[in-house]
Amino acid sequence: MRVLFPFLRLFKQAKFVLFLGLVLMITGLAASIGLLTVSGWFLAATAIAGVGSLFNFFYPSASVRGLAIGRTVARYFEKIVTHDATFRVLAKLRVAVFSKIIPLSPAVLNRYRNSDLLNRLVADVDTLDSLYLRLIAPFISAICVILFLTIGLSLFNRYLALFIGATLLCLLLIVPSLFYYLGTTFGERLTQSRAAYRTQFVEFIQAQAELLLFDAERPLKQQLTRTEQQWQAYQQRETNLAGLSTALLLFANGLIVAITLWFAATADFAQPDYKAAFVALFAFAALAAFEILMPLGAAFLHIGQVVASAQRVSELMNQAPLVHFDGTKTLEKNTALGNTALDIEIRDLEFCYPERQEAALNRLTLDIKAGKKIAVLGKTGSGKSTLLQLLVRNYDPQQGQILFAGEPIQAYSEQSLRQAVCFLTQRVHVFSDTLRNNLQIAAAQEICDERMIEILRQVGLSNLLEQEQGLDLWLGDGGRPLSGGEQRRLGLARVLLNNAPILLLDEPTEGLDRETERQILRLILAHSENKTLVMVTHRLTAIEQFDQLCIIDNSRLIEQGTYAELIAKENGFFKQLAARIE
Ligand code: ATP
Ligand code: MG
Repeated sequence: MRVLFPFLRLFKQAKFVLFLGLVLMITGLAASIGLLTVSGWFLAATAIAGVGSLFNFFYPSASVRGLAIGRTVARYFEKIVTHDATFRVLAKLRVAVFSKIIPLSPAVLNRYRNSDLLNRLVADVDTLDSLYLRLIAPFISAICVILFLTIGLSLFNRYLALFIGATLLCLLLIVPSLFYYLGTTFGERLTQSRAAYRTQFVEFIQAQAELLLFDAERPLKQQLTRTEQQWQAYQQRETNLAGLSTALLLFANGLIVAITLWFAATADFAQPDYKAAFVALFAFAALAAFEILMPLGAAFLHIGQVVASAQRVSELMNQAPLVHFDGTKTLEKNTALGNTALDIEIRDLEFCYPERQEAALNRLTLDIKAGKKIAVLGKTGSGKSTLLQLLVRNYDPQQGQILFAGEPIQAYSEQSLRQAVCFLTQRVHVFSDTLRNNLQIAAAQEICDERMIEILRQVGLSNLLEQEQGLDLWLGDGGRPLSGGEQRRLGLARVLLNNAPILLLDEPTEGLDRETERQILRLILAHSENKTLVMVTHRLTAIEQFDQLCIIDNSRLIEQGTYAELIAKENGFFKQLAARIE
């Protein structure tokens, strides 16, 4: 239960509106009970008085109308106020969760599946709306209304009023506790199986092409069906218990109405002539009072799920980022093109991915002078991409240092680092959005259409502009799917639209034919003329145009030098590599 405290604190932010909602809830409930009670008494009293009597039926009938209208109005506004306040709190919670998970990217978020993250952010946060709407507000209203009812009824008969009030209070303590306990036995598992089902389902849909091709659909479908059946079984248990709570309360209701009638029959009232009317008043009050308790059994059954959802959201929010951007230095002053102050020095770098045994980089030392063009080569899995990941601080090394302009990389603010470095990752992400917006992310300032069109033409993507939508062409999911090579070139277009003085490109020409590759490399080298370029590649096209080649093998930097130096080196790794690739 303690896990709920931080979420309860969030509700404090809307305390005035939530309090108003509570008052309206109490008013609605009180009006509803009052309506049935007064009506019962009124009908019985008029029957006793008979036709033509002097019985004043004006006030009671006006109260019946007043209570009926009051109930409707209070309920209407109560729903608006409480739901509005709850959704505002949930919106804040969602923003809080989102701003907590952004700094976790990518190192910590890699541990979660995307569909699981989405489930936590949407379904689990949604479940927390029950906290106020179904639990806190109805429980507090129930206590208040029981007190008001007892006080009101005691004006007519103290003992009967105390009997009804005490019974209701006892039930208010017993029923929610009992169903809370019963709910804890499966609530967590229900939440987990719901999350598992959604995660598996999203993955099942995403992997359709592979599953069909390899005819591997059946085991996954069976697993999905098993998870669904488990989820349904828990849901059925919940529904059965909710039904049991209603049945129990209805039974208690009938019993208490019967006992009230029994006691009322022998009780003394101020107006003995109208005794039957007072008997009806108490019987109807006892009958109506169960409206207070009815929703609480099922609601408390739900606490197990609320706690489980709160745990899942807290678990995500409590993750500490592996990389902290608390530096304040800026690189802006030094970003003048060709400024030697932007030298990068890599000293004795050692890095191992979390939950991995073997090092991805081992005692790597390298100097990258400002404005130089460096090509990084090596076998697959040797650690090339990892080096770039460390240069943008997606991870921090366990040992060693990276210095930018003579200062440790940790001294710089995140914004400053992002502005100084343009990183083209090995897998280019295409947003499900327009071509224009997919390109616009490359720069902070608005890029004009002419510039985008020019760059698209340069990278050979002008075919995307042939349709009438032009730059408004929809890409990604549900839009125009891009080929692997087109995705690479879209990534490259972003690089060309970005003005950072340091370019880190991870295999920008992978998957392109020789001719296109040559053309793209020409573009890259021209764009990086006054910039620092570190390019990871498996290809040797235009390699001699780079100032320095670095060969990484098995997480170590094993050779570095100019093309001429390395190709001349007898039994050198690069020489062998070149011979193999050529
Ligand atoms: P390629 O040429 O295939 O792109 P690479 O040289 O870029 O290979 P890296 O991606 O740097 O290789 O990977 C180096 C090692 O680190 C590999 O053994 C890889 O399995 C591992 N690795 C890479 N990314 C992660 C990660 N996010 N978590 C754990 N291990 C990783
Ligand atoms: Mg790589």
